Amino acid sequence: MTKYAYDFSEGNKDMKDLLGGKGANLAEMTNMGLPVPPGFTITTEACLTFLKEGGAPPQMLQEAGEHLRTLQEGMGRELGNPDDPLLVSVRSGAKFSMPGMMDTVLNLGLNDRSVEGLAKQTGGDVRFARDAYRRFIQMFGKIVMDVPAEAFEGSLEAAKEAKFAGAQDTDLDAEDLSTLIERFKALYREHTHDDFPQDSKDQLRLAIDAVFRSWNGKRARDYRRQNKISDDLGTAVNVQAMVFGNRGDDSGTGVAFTRDPSTGERAPYGDYLANAQGEDVVAGIRNTLPLVRLEEIDPESYRGLREVMDTLERHYRDMCDIEFTIEKGRLWILQTRIGKRTAFGEWVMALDMFDEGLIDEAEALLRVDANRLEELFKRRVKADGEGAIAKGLNASPGAATGEVVFTADEAEARAHEGARVILVRRETTPDDYHGMIASQGILTSAGGTNSHAAVVARGEGIPAVCGADGIRIDMRARAFSANGTRVGEGDVITIDGFTGNVYVGELELEESVLEKARQGDAVAQEQKIWKAFERLMSVADARRRLRVRANADTPDQSTNARDRGAEGIGLCRTEHMFLGEERVEAVRRMIFAETPEEEQAAYDILLPLQRDDFVGIFRAMSGLPVTVRLLDPPLHEFLPNQVDLAVEVALAEERGEDVAERRVTLQKVNELHEANPMLGLRGVRLGIVKPGLYAMQVRAICEAAATVKADGGDPRVEIMIPLVATAPELRQMREELEPVAGEALRAAGVELDHLEWGTMIELPRAAVTAGEIAEHADFFSFGTNDLTQTAFGFSRDDIGKFVGMYEERKLVPANPFVTVDRPGVGRLMSIACNEGRAANPNLHLGICGEHGGDPASVVFCHEAGLDYVSCSPFRIETARLAAGQAAVGAAEPASM
Ligand code: ADP
Ligand code: MG
Ligand code: MG
Repeated sequence: MTKYAYDFSEGNKDMKDLLGGKGANLAEMTNMGLPVPPGFTITTEACLTFLKEGGAPPQMLQEAGEHLRTLQEGMGRELGNPDDPLLVSVRSGAKFSMPGMMDTVLNLGLNDRSVEGLAKQTGGDVRFARDAYRRFIQMFGKIVMDVPAEAFEGSLEAAKEAKFAGAQDTDLDAEDLSTLIERFKALYREHTHDDFPQDSKDQLRLAIDAVFRSWNGKRARDYRRQNKISDDLGTAVNVQAMVFGNRGDDSGTGVAFTRDPSTGERAPYGDYLANAQGEDVVAGIRNTLPLVRLEEIDPESYRGLREVMDTLERHYRDMCDIEFTIEKGRLWILQTRIGKRTAFGEWVMALDMFDEGLIDEAEALLRVDANRLEELFKRRVKADGEGAIAKGLNASPGAATGEVVFTADEAEARAHEGARVILVRRETTPDDYHGMIASQGILTSAGGTNSHAAVVARGEGIPAVCGADGIRIDMRARAFSANGTRVGEGDVITIDGFTGNVYVGELELEESVLEKARQGDAVAQEQKIWKAFERLMSVADARRRLRVRANADTPDQSTNARDRGAEGIGLCRTEHMFLGEERVEAVRRMIFAETPEEEQAAYDILLPLQRDDFVGIFRAMSGLPVTVRLLDPPLHEFLPNQVDLAVEVALAEERGEDVAERRVTLQKVNELHEANPMLGLRGVRLGIVKPGLYAMQVRAICEAAATVKADGGDPRVEIMIPLVATAPELRQMREELEPVAGEALRAAGVELDHLEWGTMIELPRAAVTAGEIAEHADFFSFGTNDLTQTAFGFSRDDIGKFVGMYEERKLVPANPFVTVDRPGVGRLMSIACNEGRAANPNLHLGICGEHGGDPASVVFCHEAGLDYVSCSPFRIETARLAAGQAAVGAAEPASM
């Protein structure tokens, strides 16, 4: 039979699903023998039944009644008794803490008569009793009956004013409070058309119902959506005997953390407020004191609290946050949980707790959150949002300051002259890439966290604020306006990619200690955060099975990746080798060639240029594998935009200019035009249709490798053919290209120790026929960006309009372009791994999509048995950490 209510002595900390976090930990502390006021918990199951049936099931009411009787007997007091009343709090508490979302009613059980009894209990403290009663009417009215909070607050203010200017709530005497109570009851009647309930059983029932109902309140629902908490959990209700921190200066209430949650230091941290009830600390009614001051005020309680803090930390083996109340010199503990902490603090704490022997190595590794690691290397804006002229989405972490530019070309040109620039655009496209990577930061007025600007910025480690819809860009005036401020080209702004804030002027930025330390700053290297980082990363490296490679296209990126611990390149894209002034002309000749000779002439120009690019990369990665992807994008990307060109030709013709040459280009552009270029002539299909193209690339790769080897380097070459759908595609390509490689190496008189051929698995058909494909491949690399696009039939560039709604309505598990969709894309990957390895036991497997730097996806890759993940150089540490965490156990976020 279902049990709807548990005494605190019946539960424990592992019963959070049923008792909520608060209830489970109250039970745990009760059983540890800590001074917790007694009480009981009504379960989340009762809440769900209540919400489903639209009222409390009879059995629940009965069980709650029994537990109340037990509580009354234990306390020797009765709820609502006029002579000697028991007072309780009714506290909500879901499985996950939802700060400020669900409300709590204190002092329940007071009415016009029991308020006298309360005064008697406290030796005739009439003032205290009345103060408790007015608080109760106020909280009950607001939380249970939805009376506007301002109504009560206004009357309270008025009463204080009437007392004397600047009076505080503590200055009201018993007489004043008596008047205030009458006024509060009148307000209650006015808004609810009912008298304030005098029957305490009614009060209790109404309060419990209100807590249950608040689970479905708008605030609570919004919070859950934002924080990805399920709507199906429900909240528990805790009914607990009251203790009073508002009984004079020998009483008070506070919050304590067993370690400093922001620095992680092992020092007590918190706030204390004398002569106050719990909610006053949060409400900021009076200024709180730092916790350590309690040592002077009440040394004995302080010592007691410190003991409880130590006990809890040893018991939970983690930093705890604690609510406590002191009533007339007696300490009570009202709540504890594993405390939230900053990304910085969690590293310091993890290392300290490991050194102290509180946790073992594996646990220390799991205590830090790989999702937050990248943040720690970024600069921060010191300001906290004050004076910001606009706010957008925090699309890519970090802070940047620089001159405003409005086009990618301008960004590149100004950066070339040594300026620090921020590229401001409505949104960005692949054509803006060169300007984006030349910028310190990127600001867009449209687009979400998965817009082109956001994705590129994160991949390149550039701070970005996207979708700041408060800014209006006027391209013609070369200016934007925001919140009444006009910012022109060349004006300096500062953007904060952590918060989405945009400021005018150059704000002070704080360098990251970790970044400074990584660059060799001796002072920074002395800091604990760096020691923690180095120690825990070395643990991750020692434990992980997955290798970590980088996606890098240039020698610079390769060097950077290597510095960050990359163990090779998993994806070297070659498309940029077709860009840049000197090359565009040759690429055009290649595309326009009418005869094989003309085409070959173009390749002859491109070949030495590409070879030099590869030489730089192989040198930088000497001794480590480099996977080079042969050209993948459709050729039209190297020609002018169809519409732009058509307009240009038409206008030029009107002006009477000679447009013959441009006409030819336009005709070619029209010929190459495709309705769905991403599903058109690209990848291996290009290799099939233009055999000389891949042959040229393979020759350039092999000649470069030969050069590096001849210089004493150790090039380890892996040639990757993209977008294969059928085994014969790959077989035929290898038949054509292997002889080209052989010939190039023979001519150079060099043999390579490591030359492999493989393909990307990025089409569903490739995944499900992986067994056949593997017969022709030395390796597979999962191109999960395209694989996700083709598995879902989602175009990543176009789903921005609805992906948010899809996530919200849970139509997709999570954004599948961020985290590998296990049931669909993940399943395709597993099939390809298993069937590929079965056909070719030597096959090695990696991933090179953006998912390779996403911690949850790294865990999946570990489980699926991949050999390596490859990601942006800026994610290398994240991937190393996530791979280590995957190897020691489930990587759960550190703080919950
Ligand atoms: P929240 O989840 O918003 O923190 P709580 O249920 O913890 O809400 O309660 C709000 C405040 O009231 C806290 O400061 C808490 O310590 C205090 N409080 C709750 N129950 C009692 C009680 N039985 N006696 C004294 N103070 C209490
Ligand atoms: Mg609390
Ligand atoms: Mg692809």
